[in-house]
Amino acid sequence: MNHIGQDTISSDFDPATPVAPALNSLKQKTLLRTMNCVGIALHSGEKVSLTLRPAEANTGIIFRRTDIPGSKEIVASWDNVVDTRMCTTIGNDDGATISTVEHLMAALAGCHVDNVYVDVNGPEVPVMDGSAQPFVFLIECAGLQEQDAPRRVIEILKPIRVEIGDKMAELVPSDTFSVGFEIDFDSKIVAKQSITVTMINGTFKKEVARARTFGFMHEVEQLQAAGLGLGGSLDNAVIVEDDKVLNEDGLRYDDEFVRHKVLDAVGDLYLSGGIIMGSFKGVRSGHALTNQLLRALFADQSAWRYVDCEEDDSQAEPELAVKSADIVDLAAASG
Ligand SMILES: [Zn+2]
Repeated sequence: MNHIGQDTISSDFDPATPVAPALNSLKQKTLLRTMNCVGIALHSGEKVSLTLRPAEANTGIIFRRTDIPGSKEIVASWDNVVDTRMCTTIGNDDGATISTVEHLMAALAGCHVDNVYVDVNGPEVPVMDGSAQPFVFLIECAGLQEQDAPRRVIEILKPIRVEIGDKMAELVPSDTFSVGFEIDFDSKIVAKQSITVTMINGTFKKEVARARTFGFMHEVEQLQAAGLGLGGSLDNAVIVEDDKVLNEDGLRYDDEFVRHKVLDAVGDLYLSGGIIMGSFKGVRSGHALTNQLLRALFADQSAWRYVDCEEDDSQAEPELAVKSADIVDLAAASG
């Protein structure tokens, strides 16, 4: 049993079992074994259990509320997003919802997990340490299983942009998947930060996964007065007050704030149902605008197409490492 702070992670396997080596191909993958973790729900403050189970090829990411008897599955898809205030919430036709899916979705994207069942015994994914790192650890403990189906890539064919006031999100054609972000808060320490990360050769794990969610002390007080964010603490968020970081150990990256926005975007974009081959850029945007961007993308048939990955003969590591040279034109292949 491994322990991460107050949260616990456990597997149905001996944790000493070696993790499968990184598989250098562009086939779909699921987990080798079932893994479980227990953590605190950010908003309710209650303990919640999350279990990741292997799933067959072409299943995608399927959430299940195990605390609701007979509850239908909740497919992790952009058109099932029902709320984007504070976090991303998905729901099904029965009204069952799961909140705060974005950090787990980012870890699944970054670790190259195409197919998995996610069982949660409450309305929120546990916040863990506020980053994607505990979920990356969970997935690495589970190991990956290659499946006999090509990964599905969504190739961006023309620029798509959504704007609200001074916030903007866009996707433009590119040979790789990259995520760029600019933030500009009215705070000396958060202030103007920008970064672009190309998701290839392990950059998600190295540059993005450990960046924690953040908030300002006055916002935390307002939230908690409204009965929200009750599980929020310095154990699962970077809290800023008067241009100071209150967390004793400081920041994990100098620009941890903007890196967390990249993390959120990777997770929210994985609700597209595949790996995106294109460049994302967000300026002061968040969950709402990323979802609107996906809705605008899929509403325009000429803006994207599905392509399958070919057998990989490159030296790229698997993490989102899809390049234009790796894909096959489905229409040409079937014709
Ligand atoms: Zn976040």
